[in-house]
Amino acid sequence: MLDLIVKNGSIVDGSGMPAYSGDIGIKNGRICQIGQITATAKNIVDATGKVVAPGFIDPHTHFDAQLLWDGYAKPSIEHGITTIVPGNCSLSLAPLKPEHRMKLVGMFNQIEEMPIVAFEKGVVWNWQTFEEFVERIRSNLSINVAPLVGHSALRLWVMGDAASERTATADEITQMQGLLRECLDAGAVGMSTSFVDVDEKMQAVPCRYANTEELDGLCAVLGEFGRIVQLVNEFYDADLTVARIDQLAELSLKYNIPTTFSPLFVNNGDFANVDRMIARVEEQSARGARVWAQVQTRPIDISFSFEVPSLLFMRLPSWYRLIRFGTPEEIVAAFNDSDARKKLIAEAAPMGEQWGALILRQVKHAKNQDLVGKTLTQIAELKDSTPLDVMIDLSLEEDLQAHFLSANLGHNDVEKVGELLAHPNVMIGASDGGAHILSFATFGDTGHLLGQFVRKAGLLTLEQAIRKITFETAAIWGIEERGLLQKNYVADITIFDKETIDRGPEYFVQDVPGDGYRYVRDAIGIDTVIIGGEISYQKASGYTDAQCGVVLPGKVA
Ligand SMILES: [Zn+2]
Repeated sequence: MLDLIVKNGSIVDGSGMPAYSGDIGIKNGRICQIGQITATAKNIVDATGKVVAPGFIDPHTHFDAQLLWDGYAKPSIEHGITTIVPGNCSLSLAPLKPEHRMKLVGMFNQIEEMPIVAFEKGVVWNWQTFEEFVERIRSNLSINVAPLVGHSALRLWVMGDAASERTATADEITQMQGLLRECLDAGAVGMSTSFVDVDEKMQAVPCRYANTEELDGLCAVLGEFGRIVQLVNEFYDADLTVARIDQLAELSLKYNIPTTFSPLFVNNGDFANVDRMIARVEEQSARGARVWAQVQTRPIDISFSFEVPSLLFMRLPSWYRLIRFGTPEEIVAAFNDSDARKKLIAEAAPMGEQWGALILRQVKHAKNQDLVGKTLTQIAELKDSTPLDVMIDLSLEEDLQAHFLSANLGHNDVEKVGELLAHPNVMIGASDGGAHILSFATFGDTGHLLGQFVRKAGLLTLEQAIRKITFETAAIWGIEERGLLQKNYVADITIFDKETIDRGPEYFVQDVPGDGYRYVRDAIGIDTVIIGGEISYQKASGYTDAQCGVVLPGKVA
């Protein structure tokens, strides 16, 4: 008797070959039979009229902290994701000495906009090594986790405060190599590094102090295991990104490792630079280098209130200083002070149209409810004011809890983004799942891919899109025995309706430890998600308590 049969589905197996109809039989967590199954089973899922695909893999996330209080990494699974990669962008929660905990929390807060109170309320710090961290999260996992080790964490462990001050000595590089080897032995899928991010003091993160000997030395260790390096490139500058592509290509060729960089955005009106970056990836790929550009499916939308510092103000020093380092009282005082206010408005004025296009998305006072959904230009006309004044006045009236949405800031040209997503050298990812929780919902990118780019725009076939987010991602990341619906593969399966699959609207929930809020999205069209052979989520009944998630690739035997 089988454990589970998925009946009558349209099987899109992840290989890219055309969909075919059939049943899938599962026993002991693995696919044991595909065809017309007559055997009996303890459980049957009817997939008539639905697509049966391998579970989706989300290769760029920051669920490191959330996994400590939520082994589902909600709401990933309900969007069809069965494997997540945390530890991106040089930041992982292990290895980590007790004296560096608050430093790392500060970096997660600054870079990934994770609230500090969530760490205080949600995290029991009972690990130091990577192996101990893996043990800790493994104890209640419903989703599969392929964790990267962060280069900044390695540096902090070996160099302490000097990690943020100088290059490493030859001896320190040797120590970091040994430490990385331990992490890979304990189950790390690779290492992440960054050339962009800043820490809680607005200084370069530790890994940015590394010289080429250090990065080379660490990639040599990755080579011993054939593991990947992920790198945050200078995404705002095409020349620097092209140079990083070359650097990654050399590392890939020298140490036989896969490499990936993210993000790569389509800036509207600047397609030439995107084409140039992709052409360079193609050239390097032709040399045999493995360099994968990671591209997100969703357009850039940023929401904010003045309660938390937003990325949107990063390039406006007076604003950013005020909202990053000021208390709510200081922000209110500055908005009420006519000189300070004048200065702020003058600094923001050159970005004029952007402010007018902001949409008021949420208020708490009844008197402003009618304004929700309007742009600041529209509200300014009603009030005989200017968009920036309206933004400040509404924030004051709402005790800084007026929420604004800046929609379609870029990466929203469907044709061009679709062309990129379909490109053979592009990995679909960069969701940033679990990060930036007060700026946008990092969920639903796969639904957006299958709804917007496959069904509506027809820029990828269903088989091609599924292959990209399952088999290809597994193959690039060295995640074995997953990503295909074939005999003996582990049964990670997502069943969905291709006529409706999509991402739902973004909304605010209060489910972060410490009564914190975050933006999430529901999925549309996902029917059933199976992880390690057990039903983990069904639309009709919600989550189960199955805990079949594992850490991948797992300990080196
Ligand atoms: Zn990231």
